[in-house]
Amino acid sequence: MSIPKKAKKFSCVKCGSPFEIYPPDDLHKTASRDEKACEIRGVIKMDYVCTNCGATNTLYWCRPQNHADFYHA
Ligand SMILES: [Zn+2]
Repeated sequence: MSIPKKAKKFSCVKCGSPFEIYPPDDLHKTASRDEKACEIRGVIKMDYVCTNCGATNTLYWCRPQNHADFYHA
């Protein structure tokens, strides 16, 4: 069994059509359009193609900072 993943809502950069994306794993919980918004390394880049207009929306998944990062830095 796995914990149900929480969808994040974004809208297409081109047509504004809303779409939902899901975390690639349990560690990366925050999604952003800007790679620099992620405070730590280990960003996962994912491209989502809009089902309405076909535009590619690039999102970056960030890992929240936690204690493990301090110990393994
Ligand atoms: Zn679109």
